[in-house]
Amino acid sequence: MTKTAVTRTIENAIVWDGADRVARATITIDEDRIADVAESPATGRRPRGEQIDATGKLAIPGLINAHTHAYSALARGMAIPGFAPRSFTQILEQFWWRLDKALDPASVRASGLVAAMDAARCGVTTILDHHASPSCIPGSLDVLREAVCDTVGLRAALAYEVTDRDGRERTHQGIEENVRFLASARTSAGRFAAHFGLHAAFTLSDETLALVAARIPTDAGVHIHVAEGPEDEALSMERHGVRIIERLDRFGLLRPSSILAHVLHLDDGEKDRVAERHVAVVHNPRSNMNNAVGTFDLHGTLRRGTLAGLGTDGLGSNLLTELFTAGLLQKHAHQDPLAGGFSDLHRLLFVNNPEIAERAFGFRFGRLAPGYPADIALIDYEPPTPIDSDTILGHLLFGVAVHALRVSDLFVAGQPVLRRSTFIHVDEAAELAHAREQAALLWTRTREGGAS
Ligand SMILES: [Zn+2]
Repeated sequence: MTKTAVTRTIENAIVWDGADRVARATITIDEDRIADVAESPATGRRPRGEQIDATGKLAIPGLINAHTHAYSALARGMAIPGFAPRSFTQILEQFWWRLDKALDPASVRASGLVAAMDAARCGVTTILDHHASPSCIPGSLDVLREAVCDTVGLRAALAYEVTDRDGRERTHQGIEENVRFLASARTSAGRFAAHFGLHAAFTLSDETLALVAARIPTDAGVHIHVAEGPEDEALSMERHGVRIIERLDRFGLLRPSSILAHVLHLDDGEKDRVAERHVAVVHNPRSNMNNAVGTFDLHGTLRRGTLAGLGTDGLGSNLLTELFTAGLLQKHAHQDPLAGGFSDLHRLLFVNNPEIAERAFGFRFGRLAPGYPADIALIDYEPPTPIDSDTILGHLLFGVAVHALRVSDLFVAGQPVLRRSTFIHVDEAAELAHAREQAALLWTRTREGGAS
């Protein structure tokens, strides 16, 4: 049987390759890959397949969200009577740990669909998700994968957050869910991948970390919250006599394929160790500011050569706004208008996030260039000022990010997810109506569940 390549061409867009090239060009897609990006139309053979006129659009590499929580999608607008946290731990106890216990398979699926549709509308083609649903752990990553990858059509690296906060049985269920899903991801053909999820050091005993170390495959990494609040380091010293990074290192979990989210309260020795171990860290500025937990050491982290990426931590999916905020936070915190400059910001989202995804999926991401996966976002954008390789970051941050973001078309592995602002595989209005029903039920269960 001969295999016929499906070719699409995207014509007349202003194409940014993700690095240093901006030009009006034609992108040729051959099956799941970019075959060519040419400034002059191909001569000779007529292109096969679909020709897409992208006049008035900006083409950029599909964005990657390096730390998020799809399960938080149905929390939008939820009020909890008596909610008055005075610390990060109290935010978890009073809100998130009540919500996650109330999740059932139907609400996990609805949250996955809402999160994936939201991501697509923000130009995101790949999410690295950290999932928790303590009342329905076994199979929950399959439910999420079915919603995000099979139904909406995005790529996702999924993880189940193992924790001791809900008793031994659920600790073991979480470990088994990760082991099972890591094995299934080996045959995913690049559409989904996996990390071994861990909640955070302060909810994990040494006994559990030893079990994780025994069960995690040698080529897999963990995805864990580290030093998000100051309590995490304080409790590590109090209970174990060492700081978090030393503790994770003792269990062999600081690996190049591991992701440490937040890392706000590391000391210099820990930052050095993270760099030595080539572990990825992920900055989530809007979430950190919303929880009032601290300021990420962007300069110190990048100066050490650490692979630092960007995530939204479930607070929406608009990574361009997140990136803009990352710059604002550094300038504000250091009272220095030169802090958080374009070079550092470009590195976070357009260099390091693709490398973090590469470590999870095993192939390269993040460029509109021949040989790369055809993960492409088309944004309605008519620049009012000159646009070229020197000004593209200014346009993305001060134009696309701070004005209305309109992603009209999205392609993942060469396949359309959004075309002309409409989803290809899902009835968006019907799914949002269903999500509202699921959210109302979830909110009731959350409030009735009480603190635990
Ligand atoms: Zn998180």
